Amino acid sequence: MEYGGGMGDGEVFRFKKSLGQNFISDVNLLSAIAADAGISGEDTVVEIGAGAGGLTAALAKKAEAVYAFEVDRSLKSVLDDALADADNVKIIFADVMKLDDGEIKNIAGGSFKVVANLPYYIAVPLIFRFLESELDVESLTVMVQKEVAERLIARPGTKRYAAVTVAADFYADVKILRTVKRGMFYPAPKVDSALVGFKTARGKYPAVEGKRFLRFVSAAFSMRRKTLANNLNAAFGIAKIRVGEYLATLGFPAEIRGERLSTSDFIKLYKTFYTEP
Ligand code: SAM
Repeated sequence: MEYGGGMGDGEVFRFKKSLGQNFISDVNLLSAIAADAGISGEDTVVEIGAGAGGLTAALAKKAEAVYAFEVDRSLKSVLDDALADADNVKIIFADVMKLDDGEIKNIAGGSFKVVANLPYYIAVPLIFRFLESELDVESLTVMVQKEVAERLIARPGTKRYAAVTVAADFYADVKILRTVKRGMFYPAPKVDSALVGFKTARGKYPAVEGKRFLRFVSAAFSMRRKTLANNLNAAFGIAKIRVGEYLATLGFPAEIRGERLSTSDFIKLYKTFYTEP
């Protein structure tokens, strides 16, 4: 399907399902997303997946500067038209997952806020690409599948609580900002979405190296039906009896599963059984 009429220069744009091209055109919703992201006149915004530029324009109205990344070059004339009046926007045609921190910093400068409405398969890797980086990311506001959003904010002991919940909580204060029905997108995807806000809080759990700690957490969740002691034994050779003894000091039974532990519980467990080099 073509988007818009005759494209001035270059290729004609056609929706590409493979790139998750489901666009939002409702200006009230776009403006609400920019407000949810807490964008104000001093902010630099990095937008990922500019698409047809609807959200980019809404962000440009509130921000000092917007650096919008888009992988699909055939959107160039659509974006040029949509953003003709915005003088604080720079579009960068690149796959953001292939850029390193230095390249992003060269483009966007120091501190910035990330806003993204992205295909589902890339949303979670993208969130952690920024949360785990050395970049000065103040916050991320990302549209994800509703079910993924519920997993990101799940409480310990609930069905959706997973390693990814602990990972998100490790780096940021996470909340669902709004849910968005599938009919608000064109073309409409098969599922509803939710806008999730991550306020980065990297000092939240000090003195623990994030990636190593989160590998430990992933091991604890690796076989969901197995007990925590079994999983840690399989992954690191830690004696089950020692895990049981330690869990008792936290007031947990020896046979609990990983999903019962909060991030702070995992940190205590990690520090007890794992010595960082
Ligand atoms: N921001 C627009 C909106 O809200 O209507 C478009 C959102 S659409 C769901 C996602 C956009 O991300 C598509 O235009 C797609 O081409 C782009 N995209 C997908 N993967 C990307 C990547 N790795 N880097 C940059 N852009 C990407």
